[in-house]
Amino acid sequence: MLKTLAPKLTIAVDIDDVLFPFVSGIADFYNQKHGANLTVDDFISYNFVDVWGGSYEDSVKLVDDFLAIDHSHLRPIEGSIAAINRLKGGYRVVSITARNGIFEPNTMKWLSAHFPGLFDGVYFAGSRHDGRPYRPTGEVCREVGAHILIDDSPNNLLSAAEHGVDGVLFGKKPWSLMNGLSPQSVKHCADWVEVEDYIYNDWQSRQFSN
Ligand SMILES: [Mg+2]
Repeated sequence: MLKTLAPKLTIAVDIDDVLFPFVSGIADFYNQKHGANLTVDDFISYNFVDVWGGSYEDSVKLVDDFLAIDHSHLRPIEGSIAAINRLKGGYRVVSITARNGIFEPNTMKWLSAHFPGLFDGVYFAGSRHDGRPYRPTGEVCREVGAHILIDDSPNNLLSAAEHGVDGVLFGKKPWSLMNGLSPQSVKHCADWVEVEDYIYNDWQSRQFSN
């Protein structure tokens, strides 16, 4: 008798502040540029004008400049390399980022250095924060066949939920709050240990129970 293998479920993973230490990296970048002393605790909002003041245009330029520099000195978020390697063993793993496609070469260089061959695709949705065209994360999730999205942005998880995609709200950033997110479909996990525990011991079993 032919044995049919169940298709692998697809996990989509955000990059900034899930794999890549965006806030600590940009704090250091800002401090070097302006002789300031920002720490990660100063980032109380994802709207960075609230953090360093100034104009919206200057803020977009600062983020652009940071995304364009060499990131080889920045280590991935704790536990992410081991977790992605293990998840890759049982799932199809893709990445969906709000970075603009203009940063693809630099992003791929850093991902390839730390997560070589682990992603079945990397998708640049663009951001609603920089005034350039972007696509809702949930739309991209749906298009790439994601079953769950791991992201630190509640807005992205809300967008995923609107497209029937489950979520993990990652990390302990001030903006990573469950407000408006349904605990039926989104789980808040503080770190990669909690993410793996949730996926293997809870979420995975529910995928085959209905
Ligand atoms: Mg992020």
